[in-house]
Amino acid sequence: MDASEFRRRGREMVDYIADYLEGVEGRQVFPDVQPGYLRPLIPSCAPQEPDTFEDIMKDVERVIMPGVTHWHSPHFFAYFPTASSFPALLGDMLSGAIGCIGFSWAASPACTELETVMLDWLGKMLRLPAPFLTESGGGEGGGVIQGSASEATLMALLAARSRATRRLQAARPGLTDAAVLEKLVAYFSDQAHSSVERAALIGGVKFKAIPSDDKFTMRASALQEALERDKAAGLIPFFVVATLGTTSCCSFDRLPELGPVCDKEDLWLHIDAAYAGSAFICPEFRHLLNGVEFADSFNFNPHKWLLVNFDCSTMWVKRRSDLIGTFKMDPVYLKHTHQDSGLITDYRHWQLPLGRRFRSLKMWFVFRMYGVAGLQAHIRKHVQLAHEFESLVTQDPRFEICTEVTLGLVCFRLKGSNQLNEALLERINAARKIHLVPCHLRDKFVLRFAICSRTVESAHVQSAWAHIQALATALLGAWRECGSAPPGGAAEI
Ligand SMILES: *Cc1c(COP(=O)(O)O)cnc(C)c1O
Repeated sequence: MDASEFRRRGREMVDYIADYLEGVEGRQVFPDVQPGYLRPLIPSCAPQEPDTFEDIMKDVERVIMPGVTHWHSPHFFAYFPTASSFPALLGDMLSGAIGCIGFSWAASPACTELETVMLDWLGKMLRLPAPFLTESGGGEGGGVIQGSASEATLMALLAARSRATRRLQAARPGLTDAAVLEKLVAYFSDQAHSSVERAALIGGVKFKAIPSDDKFTMRASALQEALERDKAAGLIPFFVVATLGTTSCCSFDRLPELGPVCDKEDLWLHIDAAYAGSAFICPEFRHLLNGVEFADSFNFNPHKWLLVNFDCSTMWVKRRSDLIGTFKMDPVYLKHTHQDSGLITDYRHWQLPLGRRFRSLKMWFVFRMYGVAGLQAHIRKHVQLAHEFESLVTQDPRFEICTEVTLGLVCFRLKGSNQLNEALLERINAARKIHLVPCHLRDKFVLRFAICSRTVESAHVQSAWAHIQALATALLGAWRECGSAPPGGAAEI
């Protein structure tokens, strides 16, 4: 393919993409395929001679689309949103074309410098305290784009582990790394995302899940209790993850309470706000971030709810030396002449891999083409649609709302047994008209309705609810006929 064919095919591809996104509502949101469906549809080896572009595009519809879950369908209400917008797609195209690998400043100065400024822009949108920003952080603060919240948590944990080890060894020379490692303990709520526990496993440290309260919130008293117990047993607490907007039910750990405890105990406080973080650009939701001033690191995913396509997980730290001190490797082939000017950020020291894409371009396109006002409007619309769904559920006495609706997630269930709700979810997902996933809140099986698509409107929410109600009516009828427990009945079948 030469440049002139690329021009032609590029235009065709843009048309295909625009058609796809414009028409995604008409596609079945969740596919019918069985595991292994794809292999028989394509040859078992790569073609010896080139295929044509037309052949490939035909196969996109024949092979790929039947196995796609359409995350951007306005009938998709599962998990959390994953961001998509036209400006982000265009920015990503340009990033692909430039195709630089921005591991150091010199490897492509614009890649590093735009990222630094975009993280300051975004930090200011969130009103992050000055120490987190490059511009105002006295040379120590700053932000970086990670691939995912999971990576950000792991980075924070590894940096905290290294900082704690260095401090202990400074106080007691001769103390070995191994002797420290076997005593370090990380803490997070029993509602934290699985990636947090995974970070502790990868980091090789002990961890404790702190029991959350009746609002699924981690409180300082519960944390303090665990700290006292562990310190009395000779262990060394070093790291706390607070979640703002938990994955199950979008609850918020009590940051203003937890922060002072971490401060007093000299623990690294990391905040995981993967989903909810985007909402903090709205003044009316910013209070949910209060207490961030106590944190050492803060992370959220613009690739979830801020219209910047995957991957884009933004992380800020107050002391970049904590990260750089943990991971710095400087082989000769990565050195460049501006090495010690002190003005340079080499992002390879801030992340696990060496290579990194020019991801700040899509942020720049999105921030400029929406403006802060456009981004706020997107968040507000989703929150308002969640409240609309909440009020529909509330009006049907067969159902209950399970937790407070703060942002774009509604947790609800039929009054009655877990089996009844499992059966309802099975019917919803088997019908393939909308897509939902469940969660467990303590011993309850709960349905999650997350406002996801950029294009979702009130009409989609209304029709999703009418569909759920109809399936519930049929299900309850069937259960009555075969003598199962009535809804609201205590009996578990
Ligand atoms: C989605 C989510 C994650 C995981 O995000 P990735 O970017 O996929 O790693 C972590 N924490 C919370 C609270 C989440 O909602």
